[in-house]
Amino acid sequence: NTFADIDLGDALNKNIQRCKYVKPTPVQRHAIPISLAGRDLMACAQTGSGKTAAFCFPIISGIMTGQPAQRPPRGVHTVYPLALILSPTRELSIQIHEEARKFSYQTGVRVVVAYGGAPINQQLRELERGVDILVATPGRLVDLLERARVSLQMIRYLALDEADRMLDMGFEPQIRKIVEQMDMPPPGARQTMLFSATFPKEIQRLASDFLAKYIFLAV
Ligand code: AMP
Repeated sequence: NTFADIDLGDALNKNIQRCKYVKPTPVQRHAIPISLAGRDLMACAQTGSGKTAAFCFPIISGIMTGQPAQRPPRGVHTVYPLALILSPTRELSIQIHEEARKFSYQTGVRVVVAYGGAPINQQLRELERGVDILVATPGRLVDLLERARVSLQMIRYLALDEADRMLDMGFEPQIRKIVEQMDMPPPGARQTMLFSATFPKEIQRLASDFLAKYIFLAV
């Protein structure tokens, strides 16, 4: 019942210690092994449950231990993240980015954030320096895709955080547009995690559209 019991690798374990996390929270205890085993996951989790680490740890671990990515040579502008974390608001995106950066300290995994309501130029410069994990709000990401500054063809991990809030804010068309751009061949190469505080029909429909043989977790 400690993080040492979960096989996340030395670098990540060190960062977990630096964050002073000792015991996994309930959502972490269940979600992390499911994701490490490669299964898609739909998890019921509230703010403050520790869900950020629950989706970040498997993503960072997977990028570190997986096959090296054969990304196309970086074009003049286009970057190819391996993981995408979608979140409803600028504030939440900033918070996830800060946590993900602590978790990926000295792992070689680079995390970049892009959100709306702020000038895009600084975000473009950060992206141009390379990105493994992109944390983004749906509207700004669609903008980046339309400008061909980001390609989702190499995405291996997709996490949707506070999915119910994203739908309440009217982001469903953008989310669908984003996910449509993944799953270029080979199909099934993507692992998806959907987090939501509530489970109305619309969320269940997203889950059946985006997830493959997923495990449902309620803590
Ligand atoms: P979250 O629900 O991801 O926003 O996390 C809520 C807060 O709990 C954040 O400040 C985290 O840094 C903290 N936290 C998450 N997991 C743990 C853990 N296993 N032990 C101690 N603190 C944690």
